[in-house]
Amino acid sequence: MKNSDKMKDNKISHKSKGEDLVVQPKNDAASELKDLFIDSLKDIYWAENALIGVLPKMVANATAPSLQSAINEHLKVTKIQITRLEDVFNFLGEKAEGKKCEAMAGLIKEGDSILEETQPGAVRDAGIIAASQKIEHYEIATYGTLVAFAKTLGENDIAKLLSKNLAEEKEADCVLNDVALNSVNIKAVRD
Ligand code: FE
Ligand code: ZN
Ligand code: FE
Ligand code: FE
Repeated sequence: MKNSDKMKDNKISHKSKGEDLVVQPKNDAASELKDLFIDSLKDIYWAENALIGVLPKMVANATAPSLQSAINEHLKVTKIQITRLEDVFNFLGEKAEGKKCEAMAGLIKEGDSILEETQPGAVRDAGIIAASQKIEHYEIATYGTLVAFAKTLGENDIAKLLSKNLAEEKEADCVLNDVALNSVNIKAVRD
């Protein structure tokens, strides 16, 4: 097929399928930014609670003491983050409840498969750091959005609380970076 024909084909298929790509909202779909904000809070509340269950498994599978203590420290921080989210729900007069975060569920699954696919030691440690940083980056993206939403909604006290969670996720990401670059990755090459 000539290139110009291919382009024509693409155009035609885009046009004919365009309407099917537009998603019909559910009956309870968010209609205001505040509704979307609360839905997003439920998402991260579910995610943080899921992580409480996952982080001890990461520690149990890690070998480097610096990695174990980094994750244990973040486990403590995560528990504080959950209470902060509960404060946010309180401020809003909403019940603190989680709604399954498909992204975090997927990241956790990926973390599990990295464990299966690596021998214990520095290589598994490197895998744990990789999986953990994907999780931290997801949380950074989520809290970044939530802080922006809170500010737009004029909820400055809530924005402050969420900014603390955001800062802690960034800190955790930095610590993981340091552990990887200063010890784990170097050992993983030698092993
Ligand atoms: Fe967190
Ligand atoms: Zn999430
Ligand atoms: Fe999500
Ligand atoms: Fe985190």
